[in-house]
Amino acid sequence: MNRRYAILGDIHANLEALQAVIGDARSLSVTDFVCVGDVVGYNADPGACIRIVRDELGSPTVRGNHDHYCSHNEEKLVDFQPLAASAIAWTRQQLAAEDAAWLAGLPLTKSIAGFTLVHSTLDAPEHWGYVFDQLDAESHFTYQRTTLCFHGHTHIPLVFEKRHEVVRWQPEEIRIATGVKYFINTGSVGQPRDGDPRSSYVIYSTDTRTITFRRVEYDVATAMAKNRQAGLPERLAARLAAGR
Ligand code: ZN
Repeated sequence: MNRRYAILGDIHANLEALQAVIGDARSLSVTDFVCVGDVVGYNADPGACIRIVRDELGSPTVRGNHDHYCSHNEEKLVDFQPLAASAIAWTRQQLAAEDAAWLAGLPLTKSIAGFTLVHSTLDAPEHWGYVFDQLDAESHFTYQRTTLCFHGHTHIPLVFEKRHEVVRWQPEEIRIATGVKYFINTGSVGQPRDGDPRSSYVIYSTDTRTITFRRVEYDVATAMAKNRQAGLPERLAARLAAGR
C-alpha cells in the first residue's frame, strides 16, 4: 500500500510550529508521521508536544540528545551550551513522570518499512555527533543498510548522497535513484537554524519514490511570548524570529 510519511525532527517543545506542520502535512494527504527526535528542549510546551507526537500522531520516534538529557535528571549538562543547558534544566522541572519515562525509553535508532531513523548518526548514535560535511557522513554511511535514513540534530535541512563518493546538497525534491543511499536531514520543526524561521520537515511518498522538503509559516510571535512567560532565556525567543 502506498504511504506518504511526514518526517518531523527537532520539534523542541514548539507547539505553534508543530501544529502548523501537522496542518500542512494533513493538507498534503500524509498517511503516517514519524519523528527523528528532540521532541522537547528549548521552548515552552514540552508536555503538549509529547502528547501530540505520542498519543495523537502515534508517531514512531527516536531519542534525541535533548530528549535524553531532559529525562535523565542525574546526568550533568557539561556538553551543552549555557543556553541549551538552562532550557534542559527548565524542561526537567516541567515534565510529568510518565512523559519523562516515555522520552527515556525511546530507542536511539528505528527501522520502518525500508527506511531508518536516527537523531544523529548510525555509527555512534549515543555520541550525538553532528553531520555537517561529507567526512562526517562517510562514517555514518558505513552503518546505513537501507536506501533512506532520516536524521536531525543540526537543524539544517540537507541531503548526503552516497554514490561512489559522498555528495552534500540543499534540496527541494529528490527522486530516489537505484543504487544510491540517502542520509537526509529533515531540518527543524521548532527551531530552524538556516536563517529561514519557517518550520522545516520532509514528506516521503512511497508511490512516486520522492522526498519533498517543506517550509511552513507558523505563529512565531505566540511561541516567543510563551518562552518569555515561561522565564526561558530571552535569546531562545529571539532566535525563533531569526531562524538561527
Ligand atoms: Zn535539536
